[in-house]
Amino acid sequence: VPRHLPTVSALAGIVEGPAVAPEPLRVRTVTDGKLHHVSASQVQTFESCNRKWWFQKVQQIPDRTDTSSRDLGTEVHAILESYLKGGPTPSMGSPLLAERIAASGLIHLPQPGPELQVEQLLDPPLLFAGETPWEGKIDWLTQPTEYTDPVTGQHWHQFQVGDHKTTKNFRYAKSSSELRTLTQFVSYAYWKALQVWGPGVFTQGGYRIMGTHVYYHTQPENLGARAARSKRVDCWLETKDIPALVSALNRTVADMVVTATKTNQEDVPGERATCGAFGGCPFRMQCTIGRRTMNNESTGLPNSLNSLLRKPVGSGPAPTPVAPSAAGEGPVEQPIPGELALAGWAPKAPVLPGPAELVLYVGCLPLVGPHAGVARPLEEVVEAHSQAIREEQGVVDLRLMQFAAGKALLAGSLRTTPPTGVYFVNRSHEMVAVALETLIPLADVVIQGVAT
Ligand code: SF4
Repeated sequence: VPRHLPTVSALAGIVEGPAVAPEPLRVRTVTDGKLHHVSASQVQTFESCNRKWWFQKVQQIPDRTDTSSRDLGTEVHAILESYLKGGPTPSMGSPLLAERIAASGLIHLPQPGPELQVEQLLDPPLLFAGETPWEGKIDWLTQPTEYTDPVTGQHWHQFQVGDHKTTKNFRYAKSSSELRTLTQFVSYAYWKALQVWGPGVFTQGGYRIMGTHVYYHTQPENLGARAARSKRVDCWLETKDIPALVSALNRTVADMVVTATKTNQEDVPGERATCGAFGGCPFRMQCTIGRRTMNNESTGLPNSLNSLLRKPVGSGPAPTPVAPSAAGEGPVEQPIPGELALAGWAPKAPVLPGPAELVLYVGCLPLVGPHAGVARPLEEVVEAHSQAIREEQGVVDLRLMQFAAGKALLAGSLRTTPPTGVYFVNRSHEMVAVALETLIPLADVVIQGVAT
């Protein structure tokens, strides 16, 4: 087996050439606009939204989403790894939740033993887009075997690529056809097939790989007594179908190479449909597209105010039709039945702030007009910045930092990445007051209530 496997582009017939020795794998993903390595999860993130990957790997903005489910998944994974390597068998009677979850899926796993490759590193790595190494670790691999179908008489060379997946809901499980083209599975199947059978296998029949995902439910207490706590999905992929799939991955990695050179988010396409997926994109506060989707999803106002804004017109007089404003311009829009209507006021289409606009309502709320129902509490922004600083500094409360350093750090952070959008401000909160002082000079519009 060669130390470095052929480049993907060579396999796909795009470019012929020797493999380039990769840089050490543990360098940062992107430095100075150069992409050093990729992985299946990175490519899947890029496929879901180019800009999300850019925030994560090029801007290196920490992903602050809840890590508790990831921690449980890691624990379950470690128990299964130990089991497949010949360690203790997890028990359904264990007091440990992670062990009970792991035990629920044993029925779907191969027998542990020396024949099994567990936690197999992709080493030597595949090289994509000419020279970018593809990192990864396969949960388990079986040895290649031969099999003759008793019905068709077809003779197969085959092996299995398996992966453990913890999930809160089986609806997130892939279908068999989705699994067959899943980036992670395709890359692992390709790597192993190349190792054991060589490049010639991609142009001949009789060779195939089984992909297996075992899904472990992480909240078994939410399931009925008789419901399955684990689920297995299988697919088959013939080696002759791999080059087309790998060529597509190669093109994706080539796009990632280019995206790694970008310094402005507006030069990186975003995918609006992904903003709210899986609890919401962690970069919505930084993303000009994400912020707009947040504003549209929720007003951020108390329910009582929302209901006031949505109050039916009720018993008051019917709204007076408004004459066309000028000949030839067409009629002015009429109040919509059921919406708040004021005499002489004709609602206009909401004008949301542009991506670079910051509007602050200090001690007051916009009840009608283009910002009604759009304004969000500035506290959300303050909390996001404060959380980042707390984690960096290892403190629990910015107000307790010596020499008011916490306030200075918050002000500096807001000055560096000021928010955009429409916010209402309650300055009685100490850190919000600090934020307000910082942001007023940066805001495009500031409206202050006279009672404050
Ligand atoms: S907020 Fe939406 S568009 Fe922006 S990076 Fe996240 S998923 Fe992509």
